[in-house]
Amino acid sequence: MLDVRGLRVEFRTRDGVARAVNGVDLRVAAGETLAVLGESGSGKSVTAQAVMGILDTPPGHITGGEVRFRGRDLLTLPEEQRRRLRGAEMAMIFQDALSALNPVLTVGDQLAEMFLVHRGTSRREARARAVELMDRVRIPAAAQRARDYPHQFSGGMRQRVMIAMALALEPALIIADEPTTALDVTVQAQVMDLLAELRREYAMGLVLITHDLGVVADVADRIAVMYAGRIVEEAPVHDLYKAPAHPYTRGLLDSIPRLDRKGTELDAIRGLPPSLTDIPPGCAFHPRCPRARDECLTDVPPLYAAGEDRGSACHFWRECLHDAG
Ligand code: SF4
Ligand code: MG
Repeated sequence: MLDVRGLRVEFRTRDGVARAVNGVDLRVAAGETLAVLGESGSGKSVTAQAVMGILDTPPGHITGGEVRFRGRDLLTLPEEQRRRLRGAEMAMIFQDALSALNPVLTVGDQLAEMFLVHRGTSRREARARAVELMDRVRIPAAAQRARDYPHQFSGGMRQRVMIAMALALEPALIIADEPTTALDVTVQAQVMDLLAELRREYAMGLVLITHDLGVVADVADRIAVMYAGRIVEEAPVHDLYKAPAHPYTRGLLDSIPRLDRKGTELDAIRGLPPSLTDIPPGCAFHPRCPRARDECLTDVPPLYAAGEDRGSACHFWRECLHDAG
């Protein structure tokens, strides 16, 4: 359904050209959930914005690649058609609902607007469907709360409103960028469960962008791990957890707090992600990699086929798998 190939995005900054996305390939089948995992600055949000066609930060531009969605090449589609596609066929959920929602419209009116504009329903019917949707995302007393403004909702409830907005036109694909990051842990789990449940119910494809490996295990079918604007590992979720084929993924897994290791230090990955204006040569991860050898400093690893339906951009993926198993 979604097929991204060789996507490249650059930003002009005071420090030079930032290569935010450096040749990313992504595929999402209908009804599938793909988690895109990475630290901040790994290029995951920029990838999502490029796919949605909302790369609006002025200096950012797509310098290469293809984004195909249901057979159409989105990068050459006229903006007018692109706009119609957004919401109707693909929708996005952002981390910060408060800035994504219109502060001067009631939540009910914002939802109703979707049906008025895109479906041409009567005002009365649009209102009724707005309340129905709010009920669907389990906002208590939906009919009453439809008259409230976004700031009158708690963070978790506001995130539900944004999920309702995204679902309104029953798109084939939802891209959720850190949808629960701003919420506290208990609410995070509730919102994530709701999103997973609705995804199944509506049989939508979902791209879940997150820095938190902890939230994806139960939700995603596959994971793509990003580092310095590239995908460094891609695998079905259970394979990746069982045996990561890239040292960066290994590091991420080792830094998840686990109950069975209570009292021991967490093994965080040493060092910091590179600046996107100054990506290290060879394997971009080499300054932080416990396995790095000479060739890692010079040879950019391609995404090697590292088993059935999985890939690793590490020259030594075999060793990684061997040591993990
Ligand atoms: Fe580490 Fe080398 Fe593999 Fe990069 S290619 S992850 S530096 S071992
Ligand atoms: Mg981000």
